[in-house]
Amino acid sequence: MDAPEFAEADVARVALSEQLQRLSELLRLTVAAEDIGAAPAEKEGLAAHLWSLLETEVPLVQEAVAGYVRTRGGSWQDLAELSGLTEDEARERWAALPVRGPADPAAAAAALDAWYVRHAQVEPLARVRYPFSRLLNGRSPDGQHQCLICGKYEGNTVPAWAGFPVPPGGHLVDDGTWRVGHGPTPYWPAGTLLIESRRHFLDYADFDHVEAATLGPLVRRLTAPLKEATGASRIHIFSCMEGTEHFHLWMVPRVEGQTPGRTFMADPGHCTHDEAEEVIGRVRQAMERTEARR
Ligand SMILES: [Zn+2]
Repeated sequence: MDAPEFAEADVARVALSEQLQRLSELLRLTVAAEDIGAAPAEKEGLAAHLWSLLETEVPLVQEAVAGYVRTRGGSWQDLAELSGLTEDEARERWAALPVRGPADPAAAAAALDAWYVRHAQVEPLARVRYPFSRLLNGRSPDGQHQCLICGKYEGNTVPAWAGFPVPPGGHLVDDGTWRVGHGPTPYWPAGTLLIESRRHFLDYADFDHVEAATLGPLVRRLTAPLKEATGASRIHIFSCMEGTEHFHLWMVPRVEGQTPGRTFMADPGHCTHDEAEEVIGRVRQAMERTEARR
């Protein structure tokens, strides 16, 4: 394997975490899965699904744990104590198995980092306010439909992809018509700006005179400082209102090394809160300098 920086134990850990990631995803989606079959024995039923899931996945996790223990110097006796098997049984079960590591451990580790940061908010049910309790008999949660942007500023719990009422570094602009702040860090690279209308409406067709007259100048005012602060050669602008029906627009800096063109928007990357805060500070300074020159 052409990855000298990855010791065997590291590869085993990546393999183990990949198994855990896989199982977490399978189990997490099952938490709010509809129960199709009425009887537990029915093929499509939740119980039958879980049973076969565990039968398949648990031995794979055990195998990954055994590989992890062995590559860290654990003995067969250690594994016997861990598993409740005899030493011979443990050896018979796992000795012949090589550690099934990923072909590219570095890429697999990076994928696990990205997954860990963003794993909880990407499935369709994250858009439903009560994905689990809506399935319970005798409960009819109200407010299943909410505007995530209005809800965010009203102090409601919203998915991470809707951002925070106080974005990293605070709002760059909050002028009664528009709010501009850093985009949610699990989904956007450092420097991504989120422009939101203060009023609740869907799209450009609903602009009032003030909104129509000020959005262009606002984007113009932000573009050069954003390029200066991030070193981006292009600013991608994106607006579809699919996440919530409240007007908003993304300004995403595409820096050197990122794939140019439309593929960039499909996976623009992510950043940490600190990186976002830092870049917002630089955009703010660049805006002040630009405006002082006028
Ligand atoms: Zn709204």
